[in-house]
Amino acid sequence: MGRMSGIVGHTLYALLGLRAAEARNLPVAALCQRHLASYLAGAYLGCDIQAMPEAICVETGEEVGFGTVPVEKSPYTGGPVRPFHLVVHGADFSPRQIHELFYGRSHLVLGWRKEDRPSAIPWDRLPAYFADVVRDGLDSYGPGERPLAYVFGWMVHVVSDALIKGVRSGLNLRLLDGQYTPRNRPIQDLVSFHEVGRKELGLNWPALLTDLAQTPVEPIQPHYMRVGIPDGALGREFGDGWAPEKAWLLEPVLLENHRFLRRYVPAVLAEMELHQTPAGPDCNENLRKTTGLSYPEMVELTQKADFRHSLWQIGAAVADMFTAVVQGEPRLFGLRADRSPSWDELARRWRKTSRGATAG
Ligand SMILES: [Zn+2]
Repeated sequence: MGRMSGIVGHTLYALLGLRAAEARNLPVAALCQRHLASYLAGAYLGCDIQAMPEAICVETGEEVGFGTVPVEKSPYTGGPVRPFHLVVHGADFSPRQIHELFYGRSHLVLGWRKEDRPSAIPWDRLPAYFADVVRDGLDSYGPGERPLAYVFGWMVHVVSDALIKGVRSGLNLRLLDGQYTPRNRPIQDLVSFHEVGRKELGLNWPALLTDLAQTPVEPIQPHYMRVGIPDGALGREFGDGWAPEKAWLLEPVLLENHRFLRRYVPAVLAEMELHQTPAGPDCNENLRKTTGLSYPEMVELTQKADFRHSLWQIGAAVADMFTAVVQGEPRLFGLRADRSPSWDELARRWRKTSRGATAG
């Protein structure tokens, strides 16, 4: 199906950030664990609103590619493709146009087109911005916890994208031809998936990504993207840069992201597959061509580049942000701790019937 989308990387960053948050005893870690699929969905779709097909295969009608990444020919037939458009109330939008309208709004610190750049949020204002969103999550989108888990996932994406795309310094990965490039992304994905995720962390990728893709759209997302009428704590403290006129379009975009992802996850899992060769396991031809390396060579390269150290840095940076946000919204400390009586405790209270007989 062609180009990777970053779902593997962002899912891994979210899981590492969660472990780091657990190690610091941040109460929000248990919340994210309770709503893991929504937390992971936030870490991906919470930002990447261009998750939709790029084109349609003319002969088969199949959707191909990933939004904004050019597709020249159909991977199914080798034949022609036509551009994909999202049609909303009779108006057509290309993935590129969607990207221009919304990408900066979700990524906050990066990805704004020039004329919207005054709406970008400086890095040092992020904890305050996030804390306001959390406050609104508690006051206007609660008492359910799922929106909060999604919001913390979204924070992971904002932080990790800023690091990996070099907007924020602190990461010093040099892999093949840079830190984050079209050629080295498949290497990061494959090694994250197999060596780090599957073998070292014991992740069940098909289960994690499938559950992620089945989560619903969270209504708090347009709010934290400042699409709508300014309101809540965020509207009060960050009153500029709101775009009520885009609300009619964002909702169908978010629905499209979720629809697309349910189809896309199986394709990602297929693309990550390794097959046995006499020289050991190898990835598909397409990824070999993109990177110019065999899978064993990729593994070696990531070892030399100290890729795991970079992952550690990302996990720690995520937990740093979580800490700053929790300090900004003290109610996060009061989140339900598991003080419920255990089964043994309940048995002590309840085993004996009031009639005096003891059940087995
Ligand atoms: Zn992103």
